[in-house]
Amino acid sequence: MAAPLDPITLTRELLHFNTINPPGAEEPCARHIGGLLEKAGFRVKYHGFGTGRANLVATIGGDADIAPICFTGHIDIVPLGAAPWVHDPFAGETDGDRLFGRGSSDMKSGVAAFVCAAIELAPLLARTPGVSLVITAGEETGCQGAYDLVSKPGAIGRAGAIVVAEPTGNFPFVGHRGAFWLQGITHGVTAHGSMPEKGVNAVYKAAHAVTCLEHFHFRNQPHSMMGQGTLNVGTIAGGLNINSVPDEARIGIDMRTVPTQRHGDIRADLAQALGPEVELKTLLDVESVYTEPQQAWVQEVFDVMQPILGARPEPRTATYFTDAAVLTPAYGNPPTIILGPGEPHMAHQTDEYCSTERTRQSTVAFVDLMRRWCKV
Ligand SMILES: [Zn+2]
Repeated sequence: MAAPLDPITLTRELLHFNTINPPGAEEPCARHIGGLLEKAGFRVKYHGFGTGRANLVATIGGDADIAPICFTGHIDIVPLGAAPWVHDPFAGETDGDRLFGRGSSDMKSGVAAFVCAAIELAPLLARTPGVSLVITAGEETGCQGAYDLVSKPGAIGRAGAIVVAEPTGNFPFVGHRGAFWLQGITHGVTAHGSMPEKGVNAVYKAAHAVTCLEHFHFRNQPHSMMGQGTLNVGTIAGGLNINSVPDEARIGIDMRTVPTQRHGDIRADLAQALGPEVELKTLLDVESVYTEPQQAWVQEVFDVMQPILGARPEPRTATYFTDAAVLTPAYGNPPTIILGPGEPHMAHQTDEYCSTERTRQSTVAFVDLMRRWCKV
């Protein structure tokens, strides 16, 4: 019998693949994982999008009545940043408990943990509800891979519950805010700066829009745990030179939304408040995610994590968004938890590392969650 796959070894293997996004180039990494899963008896499907890029969906078992438990994670990583690294970002160097590399926390350790857990249980999973692994590309640039996947009929299959193995330090989060970024564009007519009456000033229109946004109120009820959504004007640009009437101006609007808001409604309200002079363009549209902490399976996740964390988890939500924003609604809104071994404060940092101890703990926890779901 083959030795069980070690999650630290697999994390290190995944770190060797340069999946910096852009451009991504996740396919070789996806195929490496897919090869391991296929050998363990999983049905593996690659869903390509763009050159050298692929999402991967692997399933095992299956039951007509109960949908599988789904584990999801992305294999793309963010660029290294301007500051030099002390540790090689792709070599998988270790120092004590720390395993260094771009994507070690966000989130190749999380993917390795659920892949190892699923492979360990694979021989027991035939004729059970089963396990589905959804491994995505292109998450870091606004869940592009997940959007592509759900646009393909039947590609994601079914899921009765979802674990998103993003870095949480093994603390289970019951949801996260959404992100909705819009660009407001105003148009005018240019003229010589000495004769402004001959032009129409786009910057004045943008200034009106900014004032309107400063006083804009969302009309939804605040969410019980996440409170109210926020709106910030992060950028403003307009005009090419001081002695012309500007014919275009742009403002960047960053909204962080809560589950009592839908982005379509917000957009309609903003369009009405700003009027026809402001054209709105969507830059990022990722909805919020939330599962009631009292939900039975969420409580089961808390049961599993309690001994590992040393205390029963308090319901909390994550500060970043995840692929669950796309996958959870596409699966018909099953309960969803964000839970993974990476260190949340290490995501996107220079000399990013993860804890090997936490990675092993999460593999054990994921085995437990799969066993409970599949009753094996
Ligand atoms: Zn991530």
